[in-house]
Amino acid sequence: MLSGRHRKILTYVVGRNILDWIMLRTSVAVLLSSLAVALLVAAQQPVACPVDVPCPVCDPPRTAGPLTALRDGNSRFVKPDPKHFHQSVECGKRLSCCQKPFAVILSCSDSRVPPDVLFDQGIGDLFVVRVAGNVATPDALGSIEYAVDHLDAKLVVVMGHRRCGAVQAAFCPRPGPHLDVLWDLIRPSVAHPLPSCEHHEQVDPAQWDLAVRKNISNMAAMVTRDLRGRAGVSVAAAYYNLDDGKVDFPK
Ligand SMILES: [Zn+2]
Repeated sequence: MLSGRHRKILTYVVGRNILDWIMLRTSVAVLLSSLAVALLVAAQQPVACPVDVPCPVCDPPRTAGPLTALRDGNSRFVKPDPKHFHQSVECGKRLSCCQKPFAVILSCSDSRVPPDVLFDQGIGDLFVVRVAGNVATPDALGSIEYAVDHLDAKLVVVMGHRRCGAVQAAFCPRPGPHLDVLWDLIRPSVAHPLPSCEHHEQVDPAQWDLAVRKNISNMAAMVTRDLRGRAGVSVAAAYYNLDDGKVDFPK
């Protein structure tokens, strides 16, 4: 807006009618800009989600049971013939207000072991908890409980993998803060620990793999104990083989 002195000068220069036209046009532009900003802000506000309505499913809907769906998905990954179902923005939008994952996966954080990829699943299918060494820390157990109690997941899979670095480290003496939380949980799986570890390659590959499998079993037992009393919920152990992409479900 113009001050009185500037307005007088401009009136002298351009004439009163032209100045009024300019001022009107400026006011309209400012009004429209303000309106556009207000509409933009309003559009970005989250809308309230409907309550007490069934959670939508993405196409194609899952027809197999949870464990069969995981086995089938891993077979597609290995073949290789992955379908990448439920990986569209449309699926993401459809599930913007709710989720109903059919399985919970407690997996290692290892970058080579992404459950959604290995099981060829998509948005809304798996509730994934990842911790180095796939250990059942209190945080991990809390996340699993949330998925079971509030999202109605009926299958929990504890998945370890070949050549897990966290398990390898448990052959060596106790590390420093933070890592020791994981080490304490994995260490009981190590039958023949090393007195020192100059190089992790000192760990025997066969013993390493035995410890991986024992750790999976121990963690599955911990999760089972934690979920005791929840009707219809099952816990399965799984072993991912980095060498061929297959996930086995040992009994
Ligand atoms: Zn690992």
